[in-house]
Amino acid sequence: MKAAVLRSVGADLLIEDVAIAEPRDREVLVRIMATGVCSSDLSTIRGKTGAQLPLIPGHEAAGIVERVGAGVSRVKAGDRVVLSWAPNCGHCFYCNESHPTLCDTYGAAAGAGALWDGTSRLGPAAQPIGHYSCVSSFAELAVVPETGCIIIPDDVPFAVAALVGCAVTTGFGAVVNDARIKAGQSIVVVGVGGVGLNAIQAAALAGAETIIAVDTNPAKTEVAISYGATHFVSAAELDAVDQVKALTGGRGVDAAIECTGHPVAMGNAYAMTRPAGTVVIVGIAPIGVNFAIPAISFPGSKKRIIGSIYGGGVPEQDIKSILALYRRGKLPLDRQIGKRIALDQVNEAFRWLETGVMARTIIEFGA
Ligand SMILES: [Zn+2]
Ligand SMILES: [Zn+2]
Repeated sequence: MKAAVLRSVGADLLIEDVAIAEPRDREVLVRIMATGVCSSDLSTIRGKTGAQLPLIPGHEAAGIVERVGAGVSRVKAGDRVVLSWAPNCGHCFYCNESHPTLCDTYGAAAGAGALWDGTSRLGPAAQPIGHYSCVSSFAELAVVPETGCIIIPDDVPFAVAALVGCAVTTGFGAVVNDARIKAGQSIVVVGVGGVGLNAIQAAALAGAETIIAVDTNPAKTEVAISYGATHFVSAAELDAVDQVKALTGGRGVDAAIECTGHPVAMGNAYAMTRPAGTVVIVGIAPIGVNFAIPAISFPGSKKRIIGSIYGGGVPEQDIKSILALYRRGKLPLDRQIGKRIALDQVNEAFRWLETGVMARTIIEFGA
């Protein structure tokens, strides 16, 4: 199959012919139809995550089940599916604690660039290529754990389903599951990228009265407002904390969603939040980075700081909710799709992402 392979950090992905093995027990072979180009892929390509190489990136994807391995009962050949980048085993400590995104089995497999049994289906057996988050969708085909396949309705386009596989669910869930925004509340979203826009949209859907978008790039004002932001604060020109406080009567917001992974922005999100409010940290910082808060204020502030990954809940449930809202016309997702490209242009897509082009680039196959 044709695939984009990361062989050294900082270098372009190489388009190669890669062997892919048959799915083993509880595994599924999926023909990838659409895959998004996400900042997490970029972080890995730029060496910020310390992932073992070589690997095939790509984790925001949808496709059609081609074949299933032994013991698979969730899906069959021909099913249309969105892929989860945190498929869980269902029987470890964290699965039993209802934290499927913390699944021990997944964590060990993803850390090793492997599937459940600790081996890869990608590349020649003697020189295997790593799986990325048990997805590796920058390729025509992927072998994934059965639990990574979530069936989607026939009327959901693959490009939309791909976006729901990461950015939409991450931003939506942070607002709904972690910030638990209620109608009439105030929220700040720090970082207006793919995830931030989905957080803004979810806050608007939840009836938040004040939705403040913060970004260092004022050119993002218009798109933030179009997704439901009521205010935009340019972090490059003004003291963003003072501005956000001024917009909330000096008190601060009920909840903050931090999407940049930058330690200064994380501290600002904390400072922008009112006492007893909730700070949700979504942005992934490079390895080795810490963020600081003034310790003397923390006990008396009664603030909660929550780490949020993949929407903070049960991704499969959130994906189903999001697709239901989309199909009822309440969550416009088609507008998030920017350029549609072929796999050969993947390196260009990452350069667009770095320069802040707003809408998501989608790689489509078989067009
Ligand atoms: Zn992603
Ligand atoms: Zn588990």
